[in-house]
Amino acid sequence: MNNNQQFEYLLKRHQLKRTEPRLRVLSLLSAKSVATSQPDLESVIGDVDRVTLYRILSAFEEKGIIHKVFDLNGTANYALCSSDCAEHDHHDEHLHFNCTSCKKVYCLDDLDVQPVKLPAGFKVETFSLSATGLCPKCNNKEA
Ligand SMILES: [Zn+2]
Ligand SMILES: [Zn+2]
Ligand SMILES: [Zn+2]
Repeated sequence: MNNNQQFEYLLKRHQLKRTEPRLRVLSLLSAKSVATSQPDLESVIGDVDRVTLYRILSAFEEKGIIHKVFDLNGTANYALCSSDCAEHDHHDEHLHFNCTSCKKVYCLDDLDVQPVKLPAGFKVETFSLSATGLCPKCNNKEA
């Protein structure tokens, strides 16, 4: 499967109609190792207006295709979900790394994060792990 077929399959699996702007958002988000804000997407996506983009992002988030993470400026950034996410059921239990210098947010999926056991009586709805510091790029610049 090439990328585009993969994205079409993803839309189909989540009962979303295949549209050119939706495919474009998926392909832009999947090409990045860092989470991307709506203004950043707007600047590269071409002729998709702001409202359409906003609707695409909210639908994707609701369906469990992308998740939202805030950077240190408080701006929402979006990143593709792992394949276990489903409608209203996100399992993005990975570390989000906020760089204090470039303000980018990285999804660090490959870390082996053990599920946290909470005391009796607590029910988890969302779970997030985050760290702040310097990303490899900024760390290199400082050195
Ligand atoms: Zn998710
Ligand atoms: Zn950085
Ligand atoms: Zn993430």
